[in-house]
Amino acid sequence: MLAVRAGTLWRVIRPLGAVVGVMSLLALQPEPARLAGSAPGARADDAPAARVLILSDQARRYLALQYRAFATEFMGCMIGEVRGRAVVVSRIAPADVDPVHSTPTHVVPSASCEAAGWSGTVGMIHSHPTGERCWYYFPGTRVPSSDGQSFRLTGYPVDAIMCGDRIVWINRDQAERVTPLEERPPRPASAARAKQRGNQSQHGGSTDPAGGD
Ligand SMILES: [Zn+2]
Repeated sequence: MLAVRAGTLWRVIRPLGAVVGVMSLLALQPEPARLAGSAPGARADDAPAARVLILSDQARRYLALQYRAFATEFMGCMIGEVRGRAVVVSRIAPADVDPVHSTPTHVVPSASCEAAGWSGTVGMIHSHPTGERCWYYFPGTRVPSSDGQSFRLTGYPVDAIMCGDRIVWINRDQAERVTPLEERPPRPASAARAKQRGNQSQHGGSTDPAGGD
């Protein structure tokens, strides 16, 4: 959780141009900002900030499988499009990550999604294997976490953290939101029993993204 002075770092890094140079510099940081996603195909500078993150069933399944498979952080490129205020993710493409740059607490790509061959990237997503520290600002503050700092250095419309049963994401307004991984969480057993008794009350859980700002 070392705070990277993002502005300073960026001024140093930008003239270097080459990702290799960036990565060797970042390797010196315990929890570096991820800069490799900073040349996106879907620029968000002029678009209104996204309010909703919609993931296809395939994207949800992929994330669930990856989350189950990896003890270290994984990273993906969210492929999709921006429709008004909605970011629609059709699938998750694997980011180019060197295994030595994936640990239980951080992950750094070796190249941007575009350089890795993926076009149409609307944002990057990485996992927190323990489901902890899923925030872009330290709780109760406006102090950005390393993930928050990384997002500020990219041009993508959104960034997301996979946290097991939920996805925490952020838009260009720096508003943090939460989307359940499951579109419709299964009804609790007690509710199912009530239904069997003829009780029509159904509470399947809210699927509305919760604003965190
Ligand atoms: Zn993170």
